[in-house]
Amino acid sequence: MNYFPLFADLAGRAVLVVGGGSVATRKVNLLLQANAQVRIVAKKLNAKLTALEAENKILWIAKEFNAEQIRTAFFVIAATNDEALNHRIFHLAESQHKLANVVDDQPYCSFIFPSIIDRSPIQIAISSAGKAPVLARLLREKLEALLPQSLGDMAEISGKWREVVKAKLHSVTERRRFWEKAFNGRFASLVKSQQQEKAEQTLAIQLEQDYQGGFVSLVGAGPGDAGLLTLNGLQEIQQADVVLYDALVSDEILSLIRRDADRIFVGKRAKGDCVPQEETNALLVKLAQQGKRVVRLKGGDPFVFGRGGEELEVLAEHQIPFSVVPGITAGIGATAYAGIPLTHRNYAQSAIFVTGHRKADASDIEWQTLARSHQTLVIYMGTLKAALISNRLQQYGRAADTPIAIISQGTQLTQKTTIGTLANLAELAETAPTPALIVVGEVVKLHEQLVWFGEESEEKRLQKQPHFTLDSLSVEKVA
Ligand code: SAH
Repeated sequence: MNYFPLFADLAGRAVLVVGGGSVATRKVNLLLQANAQVRIVAKKLNAKLTALEAENKILWIAKEFNAEQIRTAFFVIAATNDEALNHRIFHLAESQHKLANVVDDQPYCSFIFPSIIDRSPIQIAISSAGKAPVLARLLREKLEALLPQSLGDMAEISGKWREVVKAKLHSVTERRRFWEKAFNGRFASLVKSQQQEKAEQTLAIQLEQDYQGGFVSLVGAGPGDAGLLTLNGLQEIQQADVVLYDALVSDEILSLIRRDADRIFVGKRAKGDCVPQEETNALLVKLAQQGKRVVRLKGGDPFVFGRGGEELEVLAEHQIPFSVVPGITAGIGATAYAGIPLTHRNYAQSAIFVTGHRKADASDIEWQTLARSHQTLVIYMGTLKAALISNRLQQYGRAADTPIAIISQGTQLTQKTTIGTLANLAELAETAPTPALIVVGEVVKLHEQLVWFGEESEEKRLQKQPHFTLDSLSVEKVA
């Protein structure tokens, strides 16, 4: 970048112009458009400048230039026909760390004036860094023709409506969509045809249509690896005003939440007890009723041992609109990374997902069904009940040497798979890190052969490109 472009606020600021001829006049007119307080030093003023002085639009402060005049100026323009004087002004300004521009003498400029397309408040400044002024001028002419005069009015009205829109549409994405629709649609046409009142009515109607009020999205975060989050899930969490998450949601996934969204933890507390489900339900309702866009982020899939159904029932009761974004459940994700196919032509024709978080002798557990051969049993929340599970399955006919796997922290960098048999399941479960899944069935035999493609060493995973980073997917802030 040869020059750094910036837009300066000159209103009320003193700018020194040395020179009283036509070159100085051109610059003075420009400065007055920006409401600068123009101070002139010149032996005499031409007719135009004399008129401006008579109207008190500019201040003729002296006939002779001196260094002191620079001290109180914001910047200096030298526009005399005395080259030596111009250069002296430049050097004096430099020594006082003031910006200076000797008109049409680029080496003696610490800033240059761009070509300007003015559709205030929209302004476009073009510069070729003095290398191709004609090209810059042609470009300006092209852009002038391209940009409707109404652009300024459009920006002006948008400025007026900005706060109103912000108060109603809470997320940046919603606001961006709102303005894109307005600038590409009826609003823009009406401003162009100078029907400002109608244009504003159109904005009001569009705002009412776009306003959705509170909304809850139940999002499955998958078992840990952020790459397993769905694109819809990612979109939801990046639009959320507030995210309620539990202990199973990995840090990698949490890092994808917008920085300015609130995060509320609703999982297991440090002392071991859980935030009661009723408390979470009430919070979801409260936040949605405040008009917030809420994401309820759950490990794995929200409908697989996730109590997602119960939360939606409460939302439906309160007539709060919601959506569900499924996630990859641990039983699918962790087994894949561990190289254990759930079904296989030779070993298993079905797979059952079951929770171990029940009393083993509960009458509605069909142990007979669970103990069937040629099927894979995936047990969630089972490690604490591993002894009972192992006994019952054997009692109902599963062989003691049936292969089992305990997959801990599945799909995360720390994933660990422990292989054993139904006979020593309880013993292995005691030391397995949590969260952990138990897989029972012949398919576990394939782990050794297939794990290379799934479960990866930490080193290997770290070498891979990160799946998502906030920066690569960041939501552009518009309103
Ligand atoms: N809704 C979640 C399950 C919640 S129940 C899902 O679909 O995956 C909690 C149990 O899920 C844990 O006790 C554990 O058995 C299992 N689980 C969840 N995440 C896991 C992971 N990353 N690795 C292994 N097991 C996991």
